[in-house]
Amino acid sequence: MLPVAEAQAIILRHTALLPAVRLPLTTTALGLVLAEDVASDLDMPPYDKSMMDGYAVRCADLPTGQGGLQVIEEVTAGRTPTLEVGPGQATRIMTGAPVPVGADAVIPVERTHLLDGGQVRIDDRPPTPGKNILPQGREMRRGDSVLSAGTRLGPAAFGILATVGRTEALLQPRPGVAILSTGDEVVEAGQTPGPGQIRNSNGPMLAAQVARAGGEPRALGIGRDRVEDLRRLITEGLREPVLILSGGVSAGKLDLVPGVLQELGVQAHFHKVEMKPGKPMFFGTVATGPRPTATLVFGLPGNPVSSLVCFELFVRPALRRLQGREPGPRFVALPLAEDFPYSTDRPTYYPARLEPGSVGWSVRPLPWFGSADLRALAPANALVLFPAGEHQHRAGERFPVLRTGG
Ligand code: AMP
Ligand code: MG
Repeated sequence: MLPVAEAQAIILRHTALLPAVRLPLTTTALGLVLAEDVASDLDMPPYDKSMMDGYAVRCADLPTGQGGLQVIEEVTAGRTPTLEVGPGQATRIMTGAPVPVGADAVIPVERTHLLDGGQVRIDDRPPTPGKNILPQGREMRRGDSVLSAGTRLGPAAFGILATVGRTEALLQPRPGVAILSTGDEVVEAGQTPGPGQIRNSNGPMLAAQVARAGGEPRALGIGRDRVEDLRRLITEGLREPVLILSGGVSAGKLDLVPGVLQELGVQAHFHKVEMKPGKPMFFGTVATGPRPTATLVFGLPGNPVSSLVCFELFVRPALRRLQGREPGPRFVALPLAEDFPYSTDRPTYYPARLEPGSVGWSVRPLPWFGSADLRALAPANALVLFPAGEHQHRAGERFPVLRTGG
């Protein structure tokens, strides 16, 4: 059976960047990746700027840092000085205002006393030229590259883009992700299940996982275990760059998904991975429509925990790669919080909780009854990977851990 790492490598081999799109720089672009280098259209600061409220002076007038100067003008931010500062003179200046010609330092107002007759007394250490002045172009010069392609937009990037006059940018868009739940037994959450029925928990759960991975979920509802129904809904789902199917990929009599996918031209790259939960995982691709990149098709097992784990291990990395982000998943080795005897026939991704301790984080496996027991995951914020075999794992032994949430 295919090891998880190989399955992940196959997926990433078929996953390219989505074509970049010019988008407005509203907060919906937060977290998107820049697809262009951005250069500044101006010098910042655009003039020699005062970094203090105080007095713009000539250092030559204050060799000891003490002395009286004649105040000739007041310049607030947004105004420009009209007078040159000459010998024995000073200009009252506010933070952010342009420093007048002739001045070469700013004395903070706390170091001064305004006297009668427009005189100011300075009582400071001797100023050096440039003191409390940010020279024109120190932060950036016109034409400088201020952000490069590949940068993920965080708050600072929004500020920088605004500084250089950008209200839109070429960005890697959020991938649209169609989500199709399948199964004759599955009813929507708003319904009361009849005999033999269960509610569709995977649909909302997958939509939340997609959104958290930066994608745009599009729910296609529930497909019945009938070829015509699946054909119609899958065809609709293939219009998106990514289609996720939940259920119908195991070896049961009504697990019709792989057959319908094949009929619709989806090329299967794997179907079954050496892992627990989630063994029947399917991955395929199909070139559809005018898009230059193939549609990625993930068939996740219907059991809710299998579905969740397969998403984290296989779908999330693909969604990140489509957006130009480092795909992961990134595991870190952490010590077990307690002894944990455990036997399993396949590498197992076990629901767990990260716990802070005096010497760093440890991981505690949670009580769990297998791939249908989604409730066990409510307190979980991680998966810990245990190897196949019969083991008496000991507290303090380190295992690979994947964070899955808050
Ligand atoms: P399947 O992969 O279709 O064989 O389904 C495996 C198990 O997962 C069955 O017990 C299904 O009832 C359950 N299941 C399938 N789809 C869903 C869903 N959307 N929400 C919750 N459970 C599901
Ligand atoms: Mg089914």
